[in-house]
Amino acid sequence: MNSTPLSDIRHLTPDEIELWAEGLLPAARDVHIGECAACRTTAERERKLFRELAHLTRFAPEFGFVERVMAKVKIPAPSGPHFRSDPDA
Ligand SMILES: [Zn+2]
Repeated sequence: MNSTPLSDIRHLTPDEIELWAEGLLPAARDVHIGECAACRTTAERERKLFRELAHLTRFAPEFGFVERVMAKVKIPAPSGPHFRSDPDA
C-alpha cells in the first residue's frame, strides 16, 4: 500500500460531488475521489442520478415546455372591427 499523505484529505462536499458529476471538479479535489472509496461511491451514485435526471428532462418535455410554447403563442387581443374604441373617427 502506497499511502502518501495528501494535503487536502477532506471528503468532498455535496457541491464538489455535483461538480465532479458535471466534470468540473478541480484536479486537486479529483485526486481525492481516486484515493477515497467512500467519496468515489457517493460520487458515482451522484453521477448516475445526474444522468438519469438528464434523461428524464429529455423525455419529459412538459417541464417548461408548456411555458415555452405559451410564451410564443400570443392570444389575440379583442381588437377586431367590432371593438373600435373611437367610432366617430
Ligand atoms: Zn472522501
